[in-house]
Amino acid sequence: MAVLNTCSLNPLNGLKLEAFTPLSKFTTLRVGGAAQWLAEPKDIEEIKLLISWAKTHQIPCHVIGAGSNLLISDSGLQGLSICMKRLNGAKLNPKSGLVEAFSGEPIPNLARSVAKAGLHGLEWAIGIPGTVGGAAVMNAGAQGGCTADWLQSVQVISLTGGLPFEISKNDLNFSYRHSLLQDEKLIVLSARFQLEPGHSHKEISHTTQENLIHRTSTQPFNLPSCGSVFRNPESLKAGHLIEKLGLKGYRIGGAEISRIHANFIVNTGNATAKDIYELISFVQTRVKENHGFLLHPEVIPFGFD
Ligand SMILES: Cc1cc2nc3c(=O)[nH]c(=O)nc-3n(C[C@H](O)[C@H](O)[C@H](O)COP(=O)(O)OP(=O)(O)OC[C@H]3O[C@@H](n4cnc5c(N)ncnc54)[C@H](O)[C@@H]3O)c2cc1C
Repeated sequence: MAVLNTCSLNPLNGLKLEAFTPLSKFTTLRVGGAAQWLAEPKDIEEIKLLISWAKTHQIPCHVIGAGSNLLISDSGLQGLSICMKRLNGAKLNPKSGLVEAFSGEPIPNLARSVAKAGLHGLEWAIGIPGTVGGAAVMNAGAQGGCTADWLQSVQVISLTGGLPFEISKNDLNFSYRHSLLQDEKLIVLSARFQLEPGHSHKEISHTTQENLIHRTSTQPFNLPSCGSVFRNPESLKAGHLIEKLGLKGYRIGGAEISRIHANFIVNTGNATAKDIYELISFVQTRVKENHGFLLHPEVIPFGFD
């Protein structure tokens, strides 16, 4: 890895690059060590500069949306962490239903805006505290809907350099909480959705609000978490399996299996990433012993060996 010093920052034309920034502020679990370098680009030109800077210095890049599905290790991340939240904003066409959103746009904001425009399609997205880019990568979904149902294409740029290009939905290999974007070194810059126009905004806003009420009454929204920790095994619910093993409330350090929803691990205040990681392994072991199969995490670990 090349040695970095303040001179290395000059080619970034004034774009702020922070050294040793705690990443706990960038994840909803509120854990994680420091980023060696952190940048929050606000446009595509800045992203191109960052990619070429990391390439020049031969350091790895990590992409962070709202950090709502990330478990970042206590030792932090070497290289450059790029937080996409400032690349935000969306354009909607209420007549055609076409929506174009930058990747850092919060998906609940988008759900509210399209509801106001009478567009049907994203009512399920209201309680998902991620960005549009993170939703495309994870094929986020809830209450019977998911990103793949409405997404048309994404604009991406490769972390190895080059110009932005488009990938259409058919080439994204969407499946349950999975897309091709999880396997490729790409940054999602924006996404295009085709929603259904011609609905009453009152009707769509009402459904959206009902979905939010349902979620906040069945999930632990008052404590830091990453949402569902495990993917549901085929035809089963991970939360039910964990609850049946009597693990609600089980703790390691400051990490606790939520007493409200057993597929959530909450940070009760002083959890470390290690506590959460160990609790995940503990649950996997107990489920394996009792049911003979491994639960696969939905949360993405960053910076663990
Ligand atoms: C309270 C709570 C409730 C939740 N409920 C749900 C739910 O109902 N359904 C559901 O599916 N999820 C849920 N989640 C999980 C999470 O919100 C989703 O997975 C969300 O889509 C992640 O988006 P993000 O922007 O936070 O991505 P991050 O967590 O920041 O990143 C997730 C992955 O996407 C990559 N990534 C993010 N942005 C980009 C980008 N622009 N370009 C390239 N890669 C990128 C990251 O590198 C990482 O691999 C919940 C989380 C919480 C905290």
